[in-house]
Amino acid sequence: MTTEHVKCLIIGSGPAGYTAAIYTSRANLSPVLYEGIQPGGQLTITTEVENFPGYPEGVTGPVLMDDLRKQAERFGADIRNGIVTKADLSQAPYHFIIDDEKEITADTVIISTGATAKYLGLEDEKKYAGMGVSACATCDGFFYRKKVVAVVGGGDTACEEAIYLAGLARQVYLVVRKPFLRASKIMQERVLNHPNIKVLFEHNAVGLYGTDGVEGMHVVKRLGEADEERYDVAIDGFFLAIGHQPNSAIFKPWVQTDETGYIITEGNTPRTGIPGVFAAGDVADPHYRQAITAAGSGCKAAIEAERYLSANGLL
Ligand code: NDP
Repeated sequence: MTTEHVKCLIIGSGPAGYTAAIYTSRANLSPVLYEGIQPGGQLTITTEVENFPGYPEGVTGPVLMDDLRKQAERFGADIRNGIVTKADLSQAPYHFIIDDEKEITADTVIISTGATAKYLGLEDEKKYAGMGVSACATCDGFFYRKKVVAVVGGGDTACEEAIYLAGLARQVYLVVRKPFLRASKIMQERVLNHPNIKVLFEHNAVGLYGTDGVEGMHVVKRLGEADEERYDVAIDGFFLAIGHQPNSAIFKPWVQTDETGYIITEGNTPRTGIPGVFAAGDVADPHYRQAITAAGSGCKAAIEAERYLSANGLL
């Protein structure tokens, strides 16, 4: 197995990872970035991005990520295809295995592996991906002005997304599998009192239909009960809000995580508590989950890495 030592290893290639690569390469840290399973991250599966500052006409997710990548490469960031399959953060320099075949040791590490939106697992979610199915209301809601949408989920995210969409769409159906909402009381009240939101309690979405995009969903009321009822609801957009899974599994033995797996950092910093190891972007952010906030935290992590190397005579 080949071994290589780097000053700064960046794991993940979303806005956080690429921004960290821009800053660390401009600081002469010769960063090496491994792109992971989904090069470019979650934004590569969205269509138009209209809320990333600097693009007055909007930009597609893949183009935005390509721009960030090119900007990092311009300053010498070494961006590689590969997946970090093992991590050992027990002592510095930290050890990693890439694709089960190469060893890397690193003085500083920026974990920016992101989070993955959960889907129901329906074939139709894949069939209509980018054609009416979305897991991000803030990203895609604007395209449903004056239209009819459904949001699946009963937690705080689903309620927040339903309220956000209700400000744009003509009608929002909130599809909740239980007879109650799991969300906080205040969010429940806002949803239940909103004139544009209709909550479909004890409903499961089991399929979608439409010719050139989503035109409706198949739902089942009281699935599996004697009075089970199946019917269709006409919608233009189908939003999933059933939670995200942060991609933190291989770091969990070493860094502190919350009950969902989000990496806990110190206060408003990307410090993990392990010297020289930082977490940026969605893997450490259960709250905002925006490209711009991820990019901001990638910048913070890069500055922290530079300061750590300098303070420890490792530059
Ligand atoms: P949650 O895990 O809290 O809620 C997920 C929701 O999706 C639940 O209603 C769950 O149903 C439903 N669900 C899960 N799987 C399925 C499925 N297969 N079919 C149908 N429904 C399903 O996730 P959130 O993303 O909402 O929230 C995550 C954390 O972030 C929470 O702690 C939340 O409080 C917090 N948060 C806080 C916010 C704030 O304070 N402003 C905003 C957003 C999130 P069931 O209840 O039946 O399990």
